Amino acid sequence: MTMKLNLENKTALVTGAASGIGKEIAETFATAGASVGICDLNIEGAKATADSIVASGGKAVAVAMDVTSEESVNAATDQVTDAFGPLDILISNAGIQIVNPIQDYDFGDWKKMIAIHLDGGFLTTKAALRTMYPGDRGGVIIYMGSVHSHEASPLKSAYVAAKHGLLGLARVVAKEGGSHNVRSHVICPGFVRTPLVDKQIPEQAKELGISEEKVIKEVMLGETVDGEFTTTADIANLALFLSAFPTAALTGQSIVASHGWYMN
Ligand code: NAD
Repeated sequence: MTMKLNLENKTALVTGAASGIGKEIAETFATAGASVGICDLNIEGAKATADSIVASGGKAVAVAMDVTSEESVNAATDQVTDAFGPLDILISNAGIQIVNPIQDYDFGDWKKMIAIHLDGGFLTTKAALRTMYPGDRGGVIIYMGSVHSHEASPLKSAYVAAKHGLLGLARVVAKEGGSHNVRSHVICPGFVRTPLVDKQIPEQAKELGISEEKVIKEVMLGETVDGEFTTTADIANLALFLSAFPTAALTGQSIVASHGWYMN
């Protein structure tokens, strides 16, 4: 079967789609023909993403969603399926970063990190499966992991634990979903220059006692083969490939895009 990188007649829901990686995935999917639910806590940002997609001829709807709330996730998913029909693709991408050494890591911050990354993955999956399982119509669920799904870095206990956890969730979804034609993957980016990363540069410089330039060159890109950031377009293209891939030969995988920082 020749593969077409096109998502005509597909409905996709992208969380964290007001900014950064999620926004680029939503735009790329709309260009490939999908109808896209732009879900985010930041509804103004989500509206801006949806408006720019619609202005360029695509199909999108902005919906407020807090991925840590079951009620909000279910209500927002219903709004997307009311607009565009049952989901074919879920991109569970919303995320934040809080850096601190463990001895100073506030327990409330830990719980917030786990809630957004792991509870969010679970709740959006459960809501998506309600629309993918009936009639075994199936779908593709992609979690935004990280090189930190495989590697550790100082100051990132909650992030590394949560991103490792997504590998487990994705593998169970692949096994349980197989007989319903549901596939799942984890995309694991290296550092991508988004607001999430821009915020960390001065924070890490302060915690580690080094310059911001050193944080970029040594901490973030020191292990890459070419000193380059991964881009939002790199990740959106990878998400498109995995979403359009036609068979379950690819399921339960983690795909790392990090300029060789982590090789698996
Ligand atoms: P970003 O800050 O640009 O975007 C994250 C979006 O998530 C924001 O629009 C924010 O409003 C939204 N969000 C936060 N909490 C939410 C909640 N409770 N409910 C709904 N939406 C919420 O960040 P980004 O860099 O694009 O990150 C997207 C994902 O990619 C995250 O899961 C992040 O961990 C992962 N990631 C990023 C990088 C990187 O270098 N930027 C690397 C690896 C993985």
